[in-house]
Amino acid sequence: MPEYEAVIGLEVHAELLTRSKMFCACPVVDLTEAEPNTAVCEVCAGMPGTLPVVNERAVEFALRVALALDCHIARESIFARKNYFYPDLPKGYQISQYELPLATQGRLPIRTSRGERTVRIRRVHLEEDTGKLTHVEGPDGTYSLVDLNRAGVPLLEIVSEPDMHTVEEVRAYARGLRQLLRYLGVNTGDMQKGLLRFEANVSVRPKGSRELGTRVEIKNLNSFKALEEAVAYEIQRQIQVLETGGRVEQETLGWDEVRRVTVPQRGKEEAHDYRYFPEPDLPPLVIEDAWLERVRRELPELPWEKYRRFQEEYGLPDYETGILTADRPVADYFEAAVRAARQHGVEPLRVAHWMVGEFFRLLNDRGLSIEDAPVPPEELAALLGYLQRGDINKNTAQRVLADMFASGKPASAIIQEKGLRQVSDTDRIAQWVEDVLQAHPKEVEKYLRGKEGVANWLFGQVMRRARGQANPQVVRQELLRRLQALRQQSGEG
Ligand code: ADP
Ligand code: MG
Ligand code: ZN
Repeated sequence: MPEYEAVIGLEVHAELLTRSKMFCACPVVDLTEAEPNTAVCEVCAGMPGTLPVVNERAVEFALRVALALDCHIARESIFARKNYFYPDLPKGYQISQYELPLATQGRLPIRTSRGERTVRIRRVHLEEDTGKLTHVEGPDGTYSLVDLNRAGVPLLEIVSEPDMHTVEEVRAYARGLRQLLRYLGVNTGDMQKGLLRFEANVSVRPKGSRELGTRVEIKNLNSFKALEEAVAYEIQRQIQVLETGGRVEQETLGWDEVRRVTVPQRGKEEAHDYRYFPEPDLPPLVIEDAWLERVRRELPELPWEKYRRFQEEYGLPDYETGILTADRPVADYFEAAVRAARQHGVEPLRVAHWMVGEFFRLLNDRGLSIEDAPVPPEELAALLGYLQRGDINKNTAQRVLADMFASGKPASAIIQEKGLRQVSDTDRIAQWVEDVLQAHPKEVEKYLRGKEGVANWLFGQVMRRARGQANPQVVRQELLRRLQALRQQSGEG
């Protein structure tokens, strides 16, 4: 029985974060907030006799993405009409790019458990979004409402080559692309609101075969979970079809989130069904050198560049690096904290551990994003400074951080007010140890008879007596020193 290999290519639609629409001056509004059909004009409503004008900022955003993906940029690209009738498309056609797209032949670096590789990008092009239909069950049957606020919103389509072979690679690609779009400030990455949409093309073939199998296209994937589950499901389904001697049909499928199966949607249109032709109302889109060079210069550090730098500069392990470079604001916070921490003699790795651990736990508990963190990076660094110098222990540091989140006060104030500075003074600690040994003669007896574990219990008693403020290393040393001495005495006696 042959083994099978999956082949997956992704098409991604990203609404661009411009202020106005792709071909008119209407504002881009949040569909979940604005009254339906309040951001609409003659152009985006498809009135005859109106003319589109290209949104320069949308082109600039597209260039950012294309350059970051290391694409070949067409100095002249062409807008085309994609003709089809649907109630959410008032013009009867969508302005898109077809034969001569803005950018081609790029690549996105991805990272999986099998290491680093790149997924080739086939094309990146600009188009306009359609309106949004809502299907409503009424007393006389189903009817549909249309909101044209979304019609004409700039949309970037990014199409990969069929280069992925596992769900893990699909996940890495999808997350990596979302991360890049957010780094570049061109898209929020909000899949729930449909601002970022994935379609997966999936086929399988016998392992070792160079030919592509027949593919299906899966739409309606509005979360990473849906994307991954649908791809995994479809790979298994197709293998089963082939193993039972069947043939995979080329078709468009949707993902049923409740039953967790793919379901046929509609017959797949062929390109000729759309009767593409160059948009007569728009001139070729010309990208001048100076513009391209400025956009290139202004690109931020890209996610995979930051990843590498964090590992080299701060010596972070993969897990921490992944989390701390996931978002630019998180990375910026970390670096600000590292700079401040240096002055307290605190290592970057310690800052990383605290951010990925306690700090994010407290943020998540409160549902806060890093921008709204009540503790500025300098204050996190100051807290870690107290820990580094042994003024407080780890448990106290955790309590102080929680307190900083709750009160917004600096670490110094909390430690001062609550008298949390830990005691390292050997004389005081020796006294506490002595008190505990006096108070528990039975346990000391047990220890002397060879029950080593009792030492831990006694340690806990000393820490309790010190109300958690004793330096645990000093306590342990002192306790063991005293117990050793007693053992020697009892051995001699
Ligand atoms: P369209 O969906 O508009 O017909 P394309 O033919 O350009 O567009 O392909 C769209 C996507 O399908 C691309 O991401 C491509 O990598 C992927 N793809 C093409 N053929 C296959 C295949 N046999 N198996 C898996 N993915 C494929
Ligand atoms: Mg397609
Ligand atoms: Zn408009």
